[in-house]
Amino acid sequence: MSNIIYRDGTGVKQITSSVARRVREARMIGKALKSSRHPILVHIVPVRRCNLSCTYCNEYDDFSKPVQTSEMLSRIDRLAELGTAAVHLSGGEPLLHPDLDTIVHRIREHGMLAGVLTNGYLLNIQRIKRLNQAGLDHLQISVDNVNPDDVSKKSLKVLEPKLRWLAQYAQFDVNINSVLGSAVRNPKDALAVTRCAEALGFKSTVGIIHDHSGQLGPLSPDQKQIYDEIVNAAEKKFSDFVHYSKFQNNLAQGLPNEWQCHAGSRYLYVCEDGLVHYCSQQRGHPGIPLHRYTAEDLDREYSTVKSCASFCTVGCVHRVAVIDEFRENPRHALTQFFPDGLPRSVRILKWLFLPKPDGRQTAFSGLAAKLFRLR
Ligand code: SF4
Ligand code: SF4
Repeated sequence: MSNIIYRDGTGVKQITSSVARRVREARMIGKALKSSRHPILVHIVPVRRCNLSCTYCNEYDDFSKPVQTSEMLSRIDRLAELGTAAVHLSGGEPLLHPDLDTIVHRIREHGMLAGVLTNGYLLNIQRIKRLNQAGLDHLQISVDNVNPDDVSKKSLKVLEPKLRWLAQYAQFDVNINSVLGSAVRNPKDALAVTRCAEALGFKSTVGIIHDHSGQLGPLSPDQKQIYDEIVNAAEKKFSDFVHYSKFQNNLAQGLPNEWQCHAGSRYLYVCEDGLVHYCSQQRGHPGIPLHRYTAEDLDREYSTVKSCASFCTVGCVHRVAVIDEFRENPRHALTQFFPDGLPRSVRILKWLFLPKPDGRQTAFSGLAAKLFRLR
C-alpha cells in the first residue's frame, strides 16, 4: 500500500508486509496459471446479518446469528484441503462476527490470502490493529455515495473518518470500491469517492450494480463518461487490467459477454449454512455442503455452462476467468486483451511464467517456478 505519508511508526512494517504480500500474490497467480484443479477465490459468509439495509442488496438479513467459530474454522480447514488460494470473508457484515480475527488468522496459518469485504461502519482503531495482528491481507469497502440516501447509507460523509484511520494504521491493502448504475442517484459521487481514495493512498475500483429487481441496464451517457474517466485514470497494473477487462466494459454499454463461468470450481460462494453455491446470485446451485465438496465437484463445475453468464455482474468471477483464459491459451489471450502492447506488470509476468512458443520452459520461467514454490 502506498499510504506511507501518514506514518505513526508503522510505516516500515507496512512496507515489509506489502512486499511479502506481493510475493504471495505472484505465487497465487503462478499456481492458478499452472493448474485448474483448485479454487482461486472463495467468498465465505461468517454471518448473514447486516447492520445496514441497502435497497439493491439481496445478501443479508437483520436477524441471523454468527456462524459458530469452531464451524467456521473447520470450513476454512476444508477450503485449505481443496487447495484454495484466497479466502474473502463477506456477509452480511463480517465485522459483526465476534471472532473474525481468529478466522482471519486461521486462513493465514494455511498460507492462503485473507480478505474482508465490509461496509466499514464497525471499524475503529482497535479493530484495525486486531486485523493487522491477525495477518489480514486485503480489506474492501464499498462507498456508494457522498451523502446517505434511502438506497444506501454507505456514504463518504459517514465513512471518511474510518478511511483516515485505515490510512494511518492498516498494514493490509485497502481497496475503496465506488459504484455506478441505475440504483445510484448521483453518478458524480463515484468520482468523489475515487479521488478521496487516491488522496489517502488507497487503491480504488468502480463497479456496476444492478437495481433492486436484479436488472442491469447500460450506463447513461453521463454515467459512462464518469466510468471512462475513472478507468482511464487507473494505473495500468495487472490488477487494474483484470478489473476493467472486457467484461465490465461490455456491461457498461449494456452488451452481453461471451465467456465460460468457472463458478463452483475456480470460485466458490460458501453461505452461512456451509453450502457451496456458484455465487451470491445463484444460491442453490450446486448447493452441496462444503465438507462433502470434492475434487470431482471442482472438475465438473469447471466446464458446466451457466445460462446466467451473458449479463453476469459478479466481477470477482470475471477476474478469475481471465486468469484461466491466460492459462488455457496464454499467447492468444495476451494479443486479445492487449492489442496495443503489454503493460509493464504483464510483461514481467509473461517473462516470469510463460514458456516458449514450442512449450519449452525458459531459464527464467524455471527459476521463477522454483522461487515462487510452484514445483
Ligand atoms: S452493507 Fe453490504 S451486505 Fe449490508 S445491506 Fe448493504 S450491500 Fe448488503
Ligand atoms: S455467470 Fe455470474 S451469476 Fe451466473 S453462476 Fe457465474 S458468477 Fe454466478
